Amino acid sequence: MRGRIHSAVATALLGLCLLALPSASPAASGKPARTLYGQAQAAEARLHKSTKLQRERAEWEKVVLAYRKVVARYPRSGYCDNSLLAVGNLYRAMAGRFQSEHYRSDAVAAYRMLVKEYPSSSLGDDALWAVVEIERDSGERPRLVRAGKSYLATFPRGKRASKVKTLMQQKAPATRVPAPPPPGLARVFDLRFWSGTSSTRVVLDLEARVKLNSDRVGSPERLWIDLLGTRLHPNLERRVFPVGDGLLERVRIAQNRPDRVRVVLDFKGAWEHSVFYLDSPPRLVIDVKGRPKPPATLADAAAGAPAPPAVPGPAASPPQSAARGGSAPAEAPTPPGAVAAALPPPSPSMPLPPPPAPPTANRAGSYSLARQLGLGARRIVIDPGHGGHDPGTIGRKGLQEKDLVLDVALRLQRLVHKELGAEVVMTRSTDVFVPLEERTAIANTKRADLFLSIHANGVKSSKARGIETYFLSFARSRHAESVAARENAISEGTLKDLQNLVKAITLNSKIDESRDFATSVQEAMVKGVRRTHNVQDRGVHTAPFYVLIGAEMPAVLAELAFVSNPETERRLRTSAYRDLLAESLFGGVKSYLESLNRTQTRKLTSSRDRSRVGGGSGSR
Ligand SMILES: [Zn+2]
Repeated sequence: MRGRIHSAVATALLGLCLLALPSASPAASGKPARTLYGQAQAAEARLHKSTKLQRERAEWEKVVLAYRKVVARYPRSGYCDNSLLAVGNLYRAMAGRFQSEHYRSDAVAAYRMLVKEYPSSSLGDDALWAVVEIERDSGERPRLVRAGKSYLATFPRGKRASKVKTLMQQKAPATRVPAPPPPGLARVFDLRFWSGTSSTRVVLDLEARVKLNSDRVGSPERLWIDLLGTRLHPNLERRVFPVGDGLLERVRIAQNRPDRVRVVLDFKGAWEHSVFYLDSPPRLVIDVKGRPKPPATLADAAAGAPAPPAVPGPAASPPQSAARGGSAPAEAPTPPGAVAAALPPPSPSMPLPPPPAPPTANRAGSYSLARQLGLGARRIVIDPGHGGHDPGTIGRKGLQEKDLVLDVALRLQRLVHKELGAEVVMTRSTDVFVPLEERTAIANTKRADLFLSIHANGVKSSKARGIETYFLSFARSRHAESVAARENAISEGTLKDLQNLVKAITLNSKIDESRDFATSVQEAMVKGVRRTHNVQDRGVHTAPFYVLIGAEMPAVLAELAFVSNPETERRLRTSAYRDLLAESLFGGVKSYLESLNRTQTRKLTSSRDRSRVGGGSGSR
């Protein structure tokens, strides 16, 4: 699977070479290559000077992007090879600092691209040597041998040729990785958590899925999990992370036995928990939730009992990470959660939304708590898919899903803020990578009322087209399965396990709401786009998306269009069409909220008797 991602990254870089993206700033596009390269160098110098900046992944990604711009805008300039070498070096540094295998792969992709695209460059030797070093440090001999052969084939008389030959002949590769784990043990190399008042997510990054033993015990109340056959990263040994969010007192981790890492969550009012694996890369997720609030009575709702106000300001503490860069938790970097930018609440001069009214039945004919309370949405999370080293799907002419969905999401953000006066939280607002489990965690810890993940489709056939919307459940069709596998960056084989997981973990209590939200979004998208364009309505479907697992609010994933369709790709490049998509998405959000806050004065009991409204999900 990683292989596919790497080649996607290489293709992404290549795509950038061939075509300046429409989101590119017109001011910059006129600047000569030397100026752009100079700007990138200055940004890198700033980064290297400031340890504060160095703690932020986003700052590193920004510098990478600055260099990539040079290659994208001026693919024939003399600065492209220097830029690609810089990209490789930055990713390599990020791999060490953030302990992420994918950065190492991105570094290799950049180095290799330099050699492939700029074969006459004098920097090719440095680039392939860097690949040899990376593979040597991986400790895996076949990788070192492959890299060595590639170096010698390209530069048989290169300045490191004899060095490479010696390395390849050594039995045990010299390694600079400190204290490699004994063979057979998987490393546990990071612990991250996002803490909120009603839910907390703890994530352990590890080398491979391992067997678990766990139990929840009392006095004091705690959950312990043993990871069998594992070795803890030295930076994590015997660490204690104070959480103190009302659910957890703290999280402790230690090498409990020579082959066993134990993590203990000391509960403080936590009500339920779920533990599950996500893949590519493997990570163990522990979700902890608070006690559910007692449901309000229908009579209260009918009497127009006011909804409890959402907690103003961010309800969550920033995400924390342990092993990255070896810093203590108190000074831990604020990882990509820092990109979760929130717009300020609307100014007092804005018209207030209408007061809550008795709700209507949802599409399944029942009443959720939100509807009973006439609760509108006060905080909406917009989640543009992919970003950074993950371009998502790529069109034949080089349009990248990550750029398209970010642009549409930013347009939607402005609309929601301006028209609804709701607070918008973006899981990312720049070209950075945010792990899928973190996006959900942001939504939960911010106690968002709605979660909308925005994506675009890509399939082999260039003919497929249309709009479809998903909510979390098992995939019921081959197409839904392959969409979920692609969006989760896992193989379709791994998806089978995931189907079982979705069955096993507590089913999302917001499933009816999510179905309704998905239906509203799908209907509004189709209706909106059809005003000016012919578009296929592919309906509402279910699939097990990582990004929706554990969301505590109505959560949907919209596939705006098929980037793989050349005609659609052309359309998607225009600002007008992106506006249309954003407006149509906004229509979906609005119509869903209106269904919650409908101002018609229907008595709750009588509207309940009227039973079904609308026809449920199903594909149309
Ligand atoms: Zn996507």
